[in-house]
Amino acid sequence: MKSSYRQLAIGNRKLSPETLMTSYGYDPFLSEGSVKPPVFLTSTFAFKSAEDGKDFFDYVSGRRTPPNAQDAGLVYSRFNHPNLQIVEERLAVLEGGQSALMFASGMAAITAAILAFARPGDTILHSQPLYGGTETLLVGTLAPFGLKAQGFMDGLHEEAVTEAVAACTSKVPIIYVESPANPTCGIVDFDLVTRAADAIEKKQGSRPLIIVDNTMLGPIFQQPLSFGADIVVYSLTKYVGGHSDLVAGAVIGSSAHLVPIRKIRSAFGMQLDPHSSWMLGRSLETLHLRMERASDSARKIAAFLAQHPKVDAIYHPDFIKDEAYQRVYRKSARAGGSTFSFTVKGGEKEAFHFLNDLHLFTLAVSLGGTESLISHPASTTHSGVAKAIRDKVGVTDALVRVSVGLENADDLIADLDQALSGL
Ligand code: PLP
Repeated sequence: MKSSYRQLAIGNRKLSPETLMTSYGYDPFLSEGSVKPPVFLTSTFAFKSAEDGKDFFDYVSGRRTPPNAQDAGLVYSRFNHPNLQIVEERLAVLEGGQSALMFASGMAAITAAILAFARPGDTILHSQPLYGGTETLLVGTLAPFGLKAQGFMDGLHEEAVTEAVAACTSKVPIIYVESPANPTCGIVDFDLVTRAADAIEKKQGSRPLIIVDNTMLGPIFQQPLSFGADIVVYSLTKYVGGHSDLVAGAVIGSSAHLVPIRKIRSAFGMQLDPHSSWMLGRSLETLHLRMERASDSARKIAAFLAQHPKVDAIYHPDFIKDEAYQRVYRKSARAGGSTFSFTVKGGEKEAFHFLNDLHLFTLAVSLGGTESLISHPASTTHSGVAKAIRDKVGVTDALVRVSVGLENADDLIADLDQALSGL
């Protein structure tokens, strides 16, 4: 058998991502021929020589660049370990980035990416809505450290973003974008964000990095690095993990951009553990199948909800009737994914009544698992966001978010139908 663990093509044929997800980055013959990677339960790694120890520490701390970036040497499990590296290599090829770093959660990944580039007094320009935890991080948690946040709610029209750029009162090191946004599926035009970065660069003399949270559609349906993003962040807890049985995050981008982020991860101890890393490697093997199937089902379910008399509005990318939205969506994404929202007629009382009547949808936060989940963002994931902002961005009391899983779509429709008929 020929060693093929970092092979990206056979002859002229470039290998497809789904092929690479079963083999890339792992050499069985480095692990006794084990077809699947073992879980490396060790806190530290032996050096063959003192010279190796010196080199490996220089590489992992970013003081020197190794001759081959992918073989920088194993040191200590807070810095790197085999289960982490195998999956990081796969994530990088899947997203089309040079390198990836995995974290103990999506929030750890986002925090590290921000702390690596923002300094006290700086302003983070960001899209809205954001996942509630990210909004709270930017507006609340990081404020005492001297960071300011300036949001823009409309990412489809130049004037709204230009206005937000003008409102920034200090240096902008980062434009942070979540697209589609959780939970309203609001999207941002990446071309427009690139132009905003150009304008800021002209004004302040340094270019802000564009960081995109690609949790909702990526990496299968949308790849922001190909649209001008510098760094992509993930909650791997969602579709990539895909079974609601782990919490993890990732940052993907150029190797140079990841150097300061790795330093933060190593210093703060935000790395992912071997077992969760191993589970993510397994999950990547089925990611294409799971996301494609769930997205097809979600489109069918959204079509059912869109014509239901007890449903007021639907926020699924294929069903948002706005010309600018559709133009940007068609340009940047291949499909709508399987997490979307809708409003029931009424308010919190009706939404709760509907949620309590469901059988197949589990009432829980999070998304992207094999099972269908449903939640009420205003009282849960987004309850930490000021009501005025919630209302402005569409996270109203009547809004319900679904994450469609791998059950039969018609079974799920039957469940929604019976619960809606009780309203
Ligand atoms: N980004 C998005 C879009 C999310 O939905 C979430 C969690 O729901 C996060 C980031 C945070 O990820 P984690 O819960 O893995 O820290």
